[in-house]
Amino acid sequence: MNLIQEVKPKKQKKQPKQGMLENVMKQFESAADLINLNPNIKKILSVTNNELIIHFPVKMDNGDVEIFKGYRVQHNNALGPYKGGLRYHPTIDIDAVKALAIWMTWKTSLAGLPYGGAKGGIEIDPTKYSITELERITRRFTYALGDNIGPEHDIPAPDVNTNSQTMAWIADTYMSTKKPSERSKNQHVVTGKPIGSGGLEGRDRATGYGVFLTIKFWADHENIKLENKTFIVQGFGNVGYWTAHFLEKEGAKLVGVQDAFGTIVNKKGIGVENLLEYTKNNHGSIVGFSNSREIAKGDFFGLDCDICVPAALGNQITENIAPQIKASIIAEGANGPTTVEAEAILLKRGVTIIPDILCNSGGVIGSYFEWLQNRNGELWELDEILERLHKKMKEVFTKVLVVSESKKIDMRTAAYVLAIERLERTYVQRGVFP
Ligand code: GLU
Repeated sequence: MNLIQEVKPKKQKKQPKQGMLENVMKQFESAADLINLNPNIKKILSVTNNELIIHFPVKMDNGDVEIFKGYRVQHNNALGPYKGGLRYHPTIDIDAVKALAIWMTWKTSLAGLPYGGAKGGIEIDPTKYSITELERITRRFTYALGDNIGPEHDIPAPDVNTNSQTMAWIADTYMSTKKPSERSKNQHVVTGKPIGSGGLEGRDRATGYGVFLTIKFWADHENIKLENKTFIVQGFGNVGYWTAHFLEKEGAKLVGVQDAFGTIVNKKGIGVENLLEYTKNNHGSIVGFSNSREIAKGDFFGLDCDICVPAALGNQITENIAPQIKASIIAEGANGPTTVEAEAILLKRGVTIIPDILCNSGGVIGSYFEWLQNRNGELWELDEILERLHKKMKEVFTKVLVVSESKKIDMRTAAYVLAIERLERTYVQRGVFP
């Protein structure tokens, strides 16, 4: 084996910190103050339970060994096992993972699921590695995580740059570490698996369908038809694509898309399915799509449209961007796309924001269905799953709307109030050990 110092790192230069942790804490504190959250419970919820940083070696295709940095942060498990995705991205660091783990606690609490919140990932640009390298990286990371994850303890799922294939590798690696008679009962150590490996029909579209549903519920509430409404999407991964798919099906028109490679526009509309086909043959990039024109990155959020769907990374809509936004509604497919400062500007301008912990919760609700299916040895059908998802999203959306209207607060604060109050009730009931 080569020595570590011989390794030529493939890593990108580290990008500036995203500041998501500061954002989630500000959101939490203002909601906690509003409801006079018990100060002891506030102390508990202000910190993460466990933070794991793992350095692990992986052999590259050329025989060199590279060291990777992986994370798993478990914020809170008062309501049930830790739950949350794994993200492969160069901007991943401990603070980003902490912020994302905290958002998961609010999201699962708001959705009424029997889960806590966690998040993890690897600081890596996956586009720089071959599929076989990514498989070894994923398997070695899973092995290193060991029993810090588990089907009744901490259940990862897909997130940015991870997918059902990643989950299949994790499930297989984790199950392989158990004795043969115990393997199959560990299948629900991850959700978002491929169909045929314990995956749920429709888990692929669950987040995007949920984002679409929240937009539809809001439009119905406002007596607005989505037909012919224009929308822009930042991120054309799983969430961005499926949201666009359902909005287009409803008659809305995609007029701008931004991904990691560039920004494209067409006022007459961009065909969602054609764009997806194009990206499949273009290394996942939207750039160069025939029926469109490329514009500067900085002009994206200022595009003329009715609906804006940030479905990529956190801290995208900042106070500099907020005044440029033309959309009357922002549906947060991503986690933490809007900063607290930007939100204040947008709310003052009368822009509605469907907050991430509500808007993109279809993903983890779908994960819950998959987990139940595995746990009970059942196989659910797509129609039934989408119907259950619809019912759950409607129920949670309505609760948030009622609190928002009755307390005259924005939807994010209303969602936080509901999420925190559920946790508060649990802590009041059970007390603090010993
Ligand atoms: N990564 C998704 C999220 O941020 C899904 C998490 C899950 O299903 O556990 O909500």
